[in-house]
Amino acid sequence: AHPTPDGRTAVVTGAASGIGEAVARQLVADGARVALLARREDRLEQLAAELGPNALAVPADVTDPASVDAARQQVHAALGRVDLVVNAAGVMLPNPVDDGRIDEWTRMIDTNLTGVLHVVRAFGPDLVAAAAAGATADLLNVSSIGAHVVFPNYAVYGATKAAVTQLSAALRSEYGPRDVRVTTVEPGLTDTELGSHIDNPALGPDGQLGAMFDAIGALSPADVADLVGYVVGRPRHVNLRHVVVLPTRQA
Ligand code: NDP
Repeated sequence: AHPTPDGRTAVVTGAASGIGEAVARQLVADGARVALLARREDRLEQLAAELGPNALAVPADVTDPASVDAARQQVHAALGRVDLVVNAAGVMLPNPVDDGRIDEWTRMIDTNLTGVLHVVRAFGPDLVAAAAAGATADLLNVSSIGAHVVFPNYAVYGATKAAVTQLSAALRSEYGPRDVRVTTVEPGLTDTELGSHIDNPALGPDGQLGAMFDAIGALSPADVADLVGYVVGRPRHVNLRHVVVLPTRQA
């Protein structure tokens, strides 16, 4: 266990499954109170019931600023000021750019990039206030190795993740001097529901993506969550700012 999250108050987006869910489990196990944000209320309620009184289900759509504002009000009423924010909500919809899937581009940009901005807008002031009061304060954004490495058919997804990585770096210049740590986590292939929304069979779990899993294996969501627990458990003046974690066989 990582000792320092004890007593902290966290918001985790994408907590309905995969990496976000695993991060929520890790943080609760480490003693934090955690607000679980995602759209599927049933999944959040189930997880909150399992995790006990330190977990709170807060249905929210990060693409909708009014929904994120409502979530902030709910979190404040139930848990008070937040000092730890993990942006894990995301969608990955590969297709050749040539196919012109405006619907998929919009979903990815609105969720993976603009969604992070909505959450930062809602909870950034909490992080600054917590740090000013002497608490440890963290913003963690889950980007991807796809921010740097080109995967065929993943142009728009990779662009959103490159944007998140650069956004995190830029946010450090605003938050670091005010003692808020900003961390970019860039996982490689991880075994989650992410590929289940791919509607091009040649690219999904039975196609290109499945072949990658077969070739290189994958991290478990718990592997990534363990790392997050480590990062936020460092002493307050230590900011692990950019963490890349891949399955050993992923080139
Ligand atoms: P999952 O699909 O399992 O998790 C994504 C989560 O995001 C779900 O809980 C989903 O819940 C939530 N979500 C999606 N859209 C929204 C929205 N509009 N508002 C709120 N929540 C939303 O996949 P992962 O756990 O793999 O993905 C987590 C992050 O990790 C993503 O940012 C992904 O890009 C990144 N990543 C994943 C890798 C992998 O190989 N799996 C590798 C590198 C990075 P709901 O549908 O209920 O809203």
